[in-house]
Amino acid sequence: MSSDFPLSHAQLVELAKKFPTPFYIYDEKAIRENVKYFYKAFSIFPSFTEYFAVKALPNPYILKVLESEGCGGDCSSLPELMLCEKSGITGRRIMFTSNDTPAQEFVYAQKLGAIINLDDITHIDFLKNALGGKLPDTICFRYNPGPLKEGGNSIIGKPEEAKYGLTKEQMIHAYKICKAEGVKHFGIHTMVASNELNPDFFVDTARIVFELILEVQKECGVNIEFADIGGGVGIPYRPGQKKVDLDYVAKGIKVLYDKMIVPAGLDPLKLCFECGRPITGPYGWLVTKAIHEKNIYRNYIGVDASMADLMRPGMYGAYHEVTVSGKENAPKDYVYDVSGSLCENCDKFAVQRNLPKIEMGDLLIIHDAGAHGRAMGFNYNGKLRAGELLLRSDGTVKEIRRRETIEDYFATLDFEGLKNFS
Ligand SMILES: *Cc1c(COP(=O)(O)O)cnc(C)c1O
Repeated sequence: MSSDFPLSHAQLVELAKKFPTPFYIYDEKAIRENVKYFYKAFSIFPSFTEYFAVKALPNPYILKVLESEGCGGDCSSLPELMLCEKSGITGRRIMFTSNDTPAQEFVYAQKLGAIINLDDITHIDFLKNALGGKLPDTICFRYNPGPLKEGGNSIIGKPEEAKYGLTKEQMIHAYKICKAEGVKHFGIHTMVASNELNPDFFVDTARIVFELILEVQKECGVNIEFADIGGGVGIPYRPGQKKVDLDYVAKGIKVLYDKMIVPAGLDPLKLCFECGRPITGPYGWLVTKAIHEKNIYRNYIGVDASMADLMRPGMYGAYHEVTVSGKENAPKDYVYDVSGSLCENCDKFAVQRNLPKIEMGDLLIIHDAGAHGRAMGFNYNGKLRAGELLLRSDGTVKEIRRRETIEDYFATLDFEGLKNFS
């Protein structure tokens, strides 16, 4: 677990009277401090932007907070573009890193003045057609470095198995085509990791990108103006894991910048990230209540949230720290599976976890749920997703998304008896 829950037991009990569990709660002050830390680490570059990956926490109240701290937004769908727009993130502060993109989404992104980051060489023509025959002034391409043999590195995994991006040969070709088409400004993007905790990984990613920038300059006569090295910065979900040291990452990349980018006359090159997880992940919690205990071959605590609210444990076997409010210091001398109500055996927030003795009505706090949490939720089994609360910097709590209702669940059906029934 990577940060402390911001409310006392008494405060949480009071809150749960006003907002019945389950709910998500996010800590505005901690998110702001965290973004400041991110920006401070990368302030050694002439220009830096963090484009928050909207998919991680697509709530406009959160996006407004991030906007006011200087973040842009990284989108990959029309609704995400609209969320940015309405949160005050517009123009070049939007990075549209989509894949398999419908034409109308390119049109909307262009209307907002977003930076369009293409995922394939064939998308040049697709984009040109979508935009009525003319490419935007600025284009970015997503690089897939593929199998990293000679000159490669041992840290980065197997990009050749990922569906994203262009090969190196295609990248060179793509910049040549766009230059000939009159595109004026160019960027490069890559993202080859997810939830990575090794800081050297990101320095190595920058090296791969910088090498290609130099090759593009030589081969195409194109000076790339910004490098987006993606998301993928992990957070310490498990006890004992270490947070990525961003100062170390920034300094490591700066050494490469001074050695590779500056002598090539490419300074100032803007450096960008599009992180979601490390920005809000540690500062969001899912609060749920113990409503059943059953003892069979294992001991189970059934809670009022389910995998439909937070699917990471069920889908990837991901670890999330669970604490019991008011029992933080009690001995963990019980072993439980903490389960939700879905008719799927993987619907467990914790498996064979040492926890203090849990009573019915206890409030359980599931940590590090502030990114890819509520956003990944679904409605399988007729489950209604939890709402979201924001603990504001002044200590007040605002409901920033209500919980789903049965009406929401039936909203797409036109069927007698399933409308206006309540
Ligand atoms: C998911 C994603 C991100 C954000 O990843 P995090 O692990 O949340 O930082 C950034 N860019 C792209 C293209 C993504 O698909």
